[in-house]
Amino acid sequence: MQVLYKSTRGNGETVTASQAILKGLSEDGGLFVPTRIPDLDVPMERLAEMTYQDTAYEVMSRFLTDYTEEELKNCIARAYDSKFDTEEIAPLHKADGAYFLELFHGATIAFKDMALSILPHLMTTAAKKNRTDKEIVILTATSGDTGKAAMAGFADVPGTKIIVFYPKHGVSPIQEKQMVTQKGNNTYVVGITGNFDDAQGAVKRMFNDRELAEELEAAGYQFSSANSINIGRLVPQIVYYVYAYGKLVKSGEIQAGQEINVVVPTGNFGNILAAYYAKLMGLPVNRLICASNENKVLFDFFRTGTYDRNRDFILTSSPSMDILISSNLERLIYRLTGENAKKCREFMEALSRGGEYTITEEMREGLGDFYGNFCSEGETREAISATYYGSGYVIDPHTAVAAGVYQKYLRDTGDDRATVIASTASPYKFTRSVMDAISDRYQGLDDFALADALSALTGVKVPKAVEEIRTAPVLHDTVVDAVEMPSAVKKILGIG
Ligand SMILES: *Cc1c(COP(=O)(O)O)cnc(C)c1O
Repeated sequence: MQVLYKSTRGNGETVTASQAILKGLSEDGGLFVPTRIPDLDVPMERLAEMTYQDTAYEVMSRFLTDYTEEELKNCIARAYDSKFDTEEIAPLHKADGAYFLELFHGATIAFKDMALSILPHLMTTAAKKNRTDKEIVILTATSGDTGKAAMAGFADVPGTKIIVFYPKHGVSPIQEKQMVTQKGNNTYVVGITGNFDDAQGAVKRMFNDRELAEELEAAGYQFSSANSINIGRLVPQIVYYVYAYGKLVKSGEIQAGQEINVVVPTGNFGNILAAYYAKLMGLPVNRLICASNENKVLFDFFRTGTYDRNRDFILTSSPSMDILISSNLERLIYRLTGENAKKCREFMEALSRGGEYTITEEMREGLGDFYGNFCSEGETREAISATYYGSGYVIDPHTAVAAGVYQKYLRDTGDDRATVIASTASPYKFTRSVMDAISDRYQGLDDFALADALSALTGVKVPKAVEEIRTAPVLHDTVVDAVEMPSAVKKILGIG
């Protein structure tokens, strides 16, 4: 049966999956949601035996119904290949009474790779299906991680170019090195002298600039976005929850049909929303445990029903969760309103006007599937060290926020069901915070020396992603002011 997509702020008008992926965001400012959530009508015994790629096909084909079997299998094969350092793609690691679902075995050793390695293929296939012969130009502003993962996904994908802007003085030395050494004939990296908000603002203005769009079109290009609100990123994230469940059944850790809990370290609410969609498809999930760092807007929302972004922005050791507006929450709000686009729009307009909204009592009753909590910086460090000294397993600060919140959940509820913790980054990506949490004898080492020390501690080889940038040549050295970004884009594309 066909699944179409409609906007959370629209009039009910629908588009196909491939059109939704090409557009990214709906023109009315809303997010695309499926008109119905398909059933996971595959017997658990079969799921348990499947490879990651087969599971991906079973899950994604039910959502992206206008892609042919051949098209989808092709996208999957190109995405989940030797870019990942394990054939399992997303292995489970049992430690400390929980199952860590390692989503960091891709090109940039963080979970964004899970979706960004397939998005370029879904997008170029969508362009062909919809007979757009334009070359797709991805524009992204990044505060560090997303830009690199998007480039790794789009590098050398025919029919695409990707331009990434980053704040020249606002990313870590390893993050900058990762970006400026990016290979690929279609990748462009530009440092800007402003901050992340300047870069993000200028990118948004370029997306809305009619004149620029016409110039691009005349030259055979069209802009698109690899932003986390694209359903082409959401749907591939449902896959690994289904896969993990199958693996738990296969290894006899749980019986088919038995409910599990899922803990997700959360920022933009994309990853946990994917777990929620897996539950709605019929995957036996009990609670979705939403873990926040000190930017605990979501914890407060689950506790009080009020979403309030009016607070100080706190820089933490889990920077990918330093977010005050969780864009993907809009999809849950829409569902809680009983799919009432008008009400959803009102909440979102209140958020952009005054920075807050409060949902109704009736809507709060729909939140029973979720449990929210948060970890302070001290609790995050404590979770890293407790996991290491308890089981010899080293986790990164984002995963540690989830592990710490899981302990709070156990204390609050006594619910000791089998639990999967989404492990969103390799500890090698955040060696400084990780090693300092384990011992104070690593202070003073540089980032690469820290990686070697971590390797000595765990016996896990330094990942290729870190090894490569030690010696890689700098290939991008353009730096411009934020106001010059549109002319930088035109120069790259050879127009104007
Ligand atoms: C992006 C990211 C998150 C947050 O995921 P959301 O889908 O934005 O909630 C958590 N951890 C890491 C390492 C990330 O890169």
